Amino acid sequence: MLKLGPIPRSRLRLAAAYLVVIGVILYGAGYGMFGLLMRANWSALESEVETLAGTLHDSLKPLLPAEARPSPELASVLPGLCLVGDPCLAPASLLPRHAVSITDSERFYLRLLDPRGVLIAHSPGSPKARGPSPGPTWTVVEEQAKERFLQYSIHLHRSDTPGQPGTDQKELDWGYLQIGRSLRGLDAERERLWWSAQTIVVLALLVAALASWWLSGLAMRPLLAAYRQQEQFTADAAHELRAPLTNLLAVVDAHRSQQSADPIAINQRLDQTLAVVTGQGQRLSRLISDLLLLARLDGPEAASAPQPCPLAQIARDLVEETSEAAAAAGVQLHLVGGADDFDVLGVEPDLYRLVSNLLLNAIQYTPTGGEVVLRVRREGSHGLLQVQDSGIGITPADQRRIFDRFFRSDPGRSRRQGGTGLGLSIVAAIVRRHHGQISVASSVGSGSVFSVKLPIAG
Ligand code: ADP
Repeated sequence: MLKLGPIPRSRLRLAAAYLVVIGVILYGAGYGMFGLLMRANWSALESEVETLAGTLHDSLKPLLPAEARPSPELASVLPGLCLVGDPCLAPASLLPRHAVSITDSERFYLRLLDPRGVLIAHSPGSPKARGPSPGPTWTVVEEQAKERFLQYSIHLHRSDTPGQPGTDQKELDWGYLQIGRSLRGLDAERERLWWSAQTIVVLALLVAALASWWLSGLAMRPLLAAYRQQEQFTADAAHELRAPLTNLLAVVDAHRSQQSADPIAINQRLDQTLAVVTGQGQRLSRLISDLLLLARLDGPEAASAPQPCPLAQIARDLVEETSEAAAAAGVQLHLVGGADDFDVLGVEPDLYRLVSNLLLNAIQYTPTGGEVVLRVRREGSHGLLQVQDSGIGITPADQRRIFDRFFRSDPGRSRRQGGTGLGLSIVAAIVRRHHGQISVASSVGSGSVFSVKLPIAG
């Protein structure tokens, strides 16, 4: 059996879920439309039969004999009907005087009943319909399970005297009139519609299946990108961790394998080995704490609630802290706007880390004799922090990638200077966490400016 990987499997599941939802909606809508259409046809039939019954009733009223029983008078009023008890050889055309459509014995039947509901006359071949109940009633009559009729029963009245102008006419109960309308056409129409709807729904489902597959691919694209990024990150992290560990083990191995009787030489070698072990250990420790910090910044839970933090104060502290590193690198470090006291909303240790990473990078990538300026000022509802250096600069292509984890323009230089390749990713994660913005402007050989905007507290 074909074994699918987790990603195609997820896509297939998502597509199936889409298809089920679309299918249910499609089926529901189709069924609703079908019901409405059939309801409209049914109502049209009912009003047709009702109109015919009314017309027939009014036409028969003055002609009916005094008694409701099978009699020659009744046969003369309705020559097309068969009287109960007489042989039924009626002509195909029934009641030509009353209504054109009711003459169609294929589609209609007519029955007359006495006041007790006993059949006295009927059109040829009319089914054994149900007896009347008081008032107008609708019934669906089934003829030997092959044809259905919609039957309407009404009271039949007789005028007691032929109407004289100006005299009131009394209406007497005479019996019942039943008109049946064949549902053959409607049933055939229902069948045709049902199968057409089924075909349309099946075709629509096929199209929906293709659309679902495409939509699921579209929905999974960002997830896939995040998944690939995560995979890349894990591979890079493993690689970064392995390098110092390999160095460390190699140095220890080399130390073990060297034999010497001279205690001074032994001590010297031990010092060298320990220095390398300490250096690689520190590199590993930095890497692991950077990875842990990134994991925390990526996680849903904040380490502590944001509070008002004095941005200028943080800048002053860090200029003081890094002044030694700047002096060692032969770089001049200035603070502009350090007296502008305002608070931004944030987590203080994270803001210290943000400014420190930017400042140390600026010092690190600026040659001796260069200059680094840290600016702090308030801009509307934001605090603006800028780190400008006159260093080596960053190419436009690299500017798009420097915030990626483990990206370095010059990996050798970064590693030599103790960089983990995570400094700017940490900065970007802190800015994101603080709902701020970060941007970089740089030109190769002239220097770079990193600008960070953070929301003001309160
Ligand atoms: P690293 O540990 O390598 O400094 P970062 O994430 O801090 O890692 O920086 C990523 C890369 O961005 C660096 O390797 C360097 O190439 C580039 N970079 C960062 N800051 C500067 C800067 N101020 N000037 C020039 N290049 C910089």
